[in-house]
Amino acid sequence: MNKPPVTSKKIKTTKSLYTAWVSGFFFPLHEKFKKHTSVALRRQLEESQWWDNTRLRDFQLTKLRDFLMHAQAHVLYYRHLFLENKFDPADLRSLSDLALLPFLTKSVIRRNIRGLKSDNARYLAHYNTGGSSGEPLVFYIGKGRTSHDIAAKWRATRWWGVDIGDPEIVIWGSPIELGAQDRLRSLRDRIMRTRLLPAFEMSEQKIDGFLAEIRATRPKMLFGYPSALSHIARHAKIHGIRMDDLGIQVAFVTSERLYDDQREQISTVFNCPVANGYGGRDAGFIAHECPEGGMHISAEDIIVEIIDAQGNPLPPGESGEIVVTHLATHDFPFIRYKTGDMGILHDKPCACGRGLPLIREIQGRSTDFVVAQDGTVMHGLALIYILRDLPQIEAFKIVQESLNETRVYLVSKTSLDQLVRLQIEHAFKARLGQAVTIVIEQVAQIPAETSGKFRYVVSKVANR
Ligand SMILES: [Zn+2]
Repeated sequence: MNKPPVTSKKIKTTKSLYTAWVSGFFFPLHEKFKKHTSVALRRQLEESQWWDNTRLRDFQLTKLRDFLMHAQAHVLYYRHLFLENKFDPADLRSLSDLALLPFLTKSVIRRNIRGLKSDNARYLAHYNTGGSSGEPLVFYIGKGRTSHDIAAKWRATRWWGVDIGDPEIVIWGSPIELGAQDRLRSLRDRIMRTRLLPAFEMSEQKIDGFLAEIRATRPKMLFGYPSALSHIARHAKIHGIRMDDLGIQVAFVTSERLYDDQREQISTVFNCPVANGYGGRDAGFIAHECPEGGMHISAEDIIVEIIDAQGNPLPPGESGEIVVTHLATHDFPFIRYKTGDMGILHDKPCACGRGLPLIREIQGRSTDFVVAQDGTVMHGLALIYILRDLPQIEAFKIVQESLNETRVYLVSKTSLDQLVRLQIEHAFKARLGQAVTIVIEQVAQIPAETSGKFRYVVSKVANR
């Protein structure tokens, strides 16, 4: 695991009176009003994070059994599925018994959207993942699930000395977040000192505006996509805009793979450590990085399995697809949900002393992987490095259209000469196959995806 370039030795936990009022009074009231149990949950989570492995696993097993029994009693899809598989949750003896159940995939959710709702669910919120990659996914989230997600994130920011009520800047592009931005919500955000900057369009002018806002706010925390934050950091650096004197405690990044050079860039420019968070709207907030560099799974509510291409569970240390069972999803259960992300579990404890298990590495979505003509699957990094090494390239995007064609979009300071083009073509062919057509296009800018996210590599071939 890569250590953050700026270490977290100087975590300050002093809280202003205002923050204490928000985290201790205003926010708990807000949560009560919304019928969320996040305040009590966070307290429990701060205790259970120190439990040892055995105690955590016992806790998970009891919780899993109750959760599956609830699904059996109240969720039509699972009642049928358990019957078909002769599976009775009351007989559950170990966490590995989960492997007796089939996976939940996006297409299963699409086909069974009604049957997956619990018959006693109340206040379900409807979600749509927007479809930044492929088809959008529609599903439901209940209050229990939302409360868990809030509590898990809250616990994680407190690892870094940041509490609810501390000033934060959120750089986000999700249409869901922006659509819900009504007047009441913006009043709440003002009270909670959260400022949202939309990451959709990042023109030079916009970024200058963002930097000015960050300077004026002096946030304790930055929160956003790694691509968006590193893009802003890069702009500040190029234009000599100083951002290292604001007292930012941490930059939390999530929703995309965090690359080492992004971590370095964000960390240097804002003079703060970068904390990675892994999860999504569909699978929940799965893991967060602690100041010692461990990606801790929110194991009280989330069981993570790593599976091979045939669907067999893999031991720690081996790379495969991340599969998640979210124990707070009673209203719309996610049981053995295939995330489409690749990762590796860790079996070593973390230096911070928390017993929460670790994910050693998150390798990104399976579509971040490219496939060579001979069938070799490799991470897109193999191609990314080629372009990173060229000083004149400012931005790029690689799209593997088919086994026979890969397109490279480049933003360059100067017009690309023939030599550079040949160099890129040669290096790409060395990895993908000599017969592959490499199309290189110089463009003025690389547009973000509709969600505001940015991906360096998109493969239309790799799709396990
Ligand atoms: Zn740790």
